[in-house]
Amino acid sequence: MQNIDKISVRYIKAVGEKTADKLRKFLGIESVRDLLYYFPRAWEDRSKLKKISELKPGENVTIKVKVGNVLTEMWGRNLIVFKAELQDSTGIAFATWIRRYNRSYDVLKSLKNNVKMGVEIFVTGSVEMDFWCKMIRVVDYEVITKDEKDLINTNRIVPIYPLTEDFSNKYLRTIIKSASDKYANDIQETLPEKYIKKYNLCDIRYAIQYIHFPDTFESKDKARRRLAFNEFLNLELVLEKFRQQRKMTVKNFKYNLTKKLLTPFKENLPFEFTKSQKKVINEIFENMLAEHPMNRLLQGDVGSGKTVVALSAMLLAIESGFQAILLAPTEILAEQHFMTIKKLIDGLHMEVDLVIGRMTKKKKEEIRKRIADGLSNIIIGTHAILEEDIKFKKLAVVIIDEQHRFGVEQRLIIKKKSVFLGADLLMMTATPIPRTLGLTLYGDLDISTLNELPPGRYPIETVEMSDKNAYNFVKDRLKHGEQAFIVYPLVDESEKLQLKSAVKEAEKLKETEFKGFSVGLIHGRLKPEEKEKIMSDFAQKKYDVLISTTVIEVGIDIPNATVIVIEHADRYGLSTLHQLRGRVGRSNKESYCILLGEAKTDNSKRRLEVLTKTNDGFKIAEEDLMIRGPGEFFGTEQSGLPNFRIGNVLTDLSIIREAKQVAIEILKNEPNLAYSILANSKEDYLNKNIEFGEV
Ligand code: ADP
Ligand code: MG
Repeated sequence: MQNIDKISVRYIKAVGEKTADKLRKFLGIESVRDLLYYFPRAWEDRSKLKKISELKPGENVTIKVKVGNVLTEMWGRNLIVFKAELQDSTGIAFATWIRRYNRSYDVLKSLKNNVKMGVEIFVTGSVEMDFWCKMIRVVDYEVITKDEKDLINTNRIVPIYPLTEDFSNKYLRTIIKSASDKYANDIQETLPEKYIKKYNLCDIRYAIQYIHFPDTFESKDKARRRLAFNEFLNLELVLEKFRQQRKMTVKNFKYNLTKKLLTPFKENLPFEFTKSQKKVINEIFENMLAEHPMNRLLQGDVGSGKTVVALSAMLLAIESGFQAILLAPTEILAEQHFMTIKKLIDGLHMEVDLVIGRMTKKKKEEIRKRIADGLSNIIIGTHAILEEDIKFKKLAVVIIDEQHRFGVEQRLIIKKKSVFLGADLLMMTATPIPRTLGLTLYGDLDISTLNELPPGRYPIETVEMSDKNAYNFVKDRLKHGEQAFIVYPLVDESEKLQLKSAVKEAEKLKETEFKGFSVGLIHGRLKPEEKEKIMSDFAQKKYDVLISTTVIEVGIDIPNATVIVIEHADRYGLSTLHQLRGRVGRSNKESYCILLGEAKTDNSKRRLEVLTKTNDGFKIAEEDLMIRGPGEFFGTEQSGLPNFRIGNVLTDLSIIREAKQVAIEILKNEPNLAYSILANSKEDYLNKNIEFGEV
């Protein structure tokens, strides 16, 4: 058996040096194996043949005909048209191939060589009426020179590939077919027969052949099921392995729940914990006090009060003599957490430090030393904390806010900052994992959910409005002593998009609509000190209106702000809109989210509609997942989820469950097999994605 990973696509007939280069560059295909695992995005049924007499305008059809006269015409200066007369026993039709003149030399040559009077061909295309004649605009054709069974472009179920402009489907079909004919038998079956039988899977060689060139849709589905199963099995093997490892790790440090900090903290709070917060804090404490490390996701909608939950976990660590980190995705958010937390623990005799990118050297050195000596108890910051020279004396718990903003690598680095074995990790998110996915994919995480908002909150009223009405509405709220955000997508005028920019618009609004009010402006290009100053000024009501770019998207908490106006709302994704909206509705005053901008595509219409209808972050996450599809939703880079080539995390739930079952069985009974399956997988699980399981 040959190793198809090692065989270059150059060994396939019809792949020259130049093409091989392009395949690598544009489609990431280098080896024969890459080529065979380049799966179709769709399949088209061209197996049902029609007769010419049956053709109706508007239909997509495949017909088997004989070629009559052919001719070439120019249409205007740019288009060249190749026409052929077609006939079968029932009548006559015409076929047209329309091409741009400057690109058509090769195409034309091959048409002239192949589509000649008297040859028999299959033609696939759409039917039009040209005066009294039936005309077919050709999508694909294939001359019958060989056995009809061997056709790959017509007269069968035909694969449609995800392609760039540099390649045609026809070409890809040709090279994949010859790769499959020549090398399919060299594909290694790594799954033992007993699992294949038990879960009614097909052989891997069958799967690869039939995913490209199925004889029926059933065989295509069978092939797809097997290939998806393989993908999920790889992931589940990794996840299970890590779950086992974590369950075997025993922490070499212990907390001591004395409540000497927790009790005064609770008594100082201006509010009572909600029931949900109490429940979640209990889950977290129980987890931290147990002997195995915590690996927990805290999901709670925007405004549900995750910060005080996180702080409780940190206090448990600190009253036991350890350090805690709170990691935030933006400087603004880190600064805000810093201010909030300092206030919340006032009088508890603790040291809190802020670590962000652009600190002065001197300041950074000072803080670095405090952290290394164990003087600072809570360290709040951005990814700047991850820098190598920052070392902790006794870090025990790491909290990551808005965890979906961080990559896998970053999560790993931060855990390794602890000198202890098995530091505890708590990740927080307002973008919940849709219920449909449940725990199946996040097999190694425990999940806590905040399912209620603090009492006295009104649901945020979300409406679409015109600019004029929106500004009048805002002014009215300002007169009541409340504050407002106005959000723009960009900082500077962009020629390309011609969007109103925050800077320009702020100047204008200051002078016109909001004359007499105090208007602040904040955006990502300001220095951290400037941003911090503006946010704290806004929090202290020095501004009535804060005009901003999406830098305020996550986490910002200004309870007195009751209106947020989102300009060009149609341009944002649902999750971003929901996050932005969550900047208001953080007190017991009624709050409003006003959406400006006209939705132009169906998707943007649907997004705005969903947003005006519900405030429920779970529903929004599910809708978002539907609209965007899993790849984009999870942001594969970010989540550490592998890029599934064929598996669909939304619709393949039953396959995922089976794969998980098999993964558990394999790890229990034949762990070496797990290794060889992963080593043989297309994705690089052993090096990169395997780390997903650990975080
Ligand atoms: P998020 O979950 O979006 O991070 P925050 O932690 O920022 O939410 O909390 C939102 C607001 O609700 C803050 O102003 C916080 O002080 C307040 N809050 C949190 N818990 C409660 C509670 N139990 N009762 C009243 N207000 C609360
Ligand atoms: Mg938050």
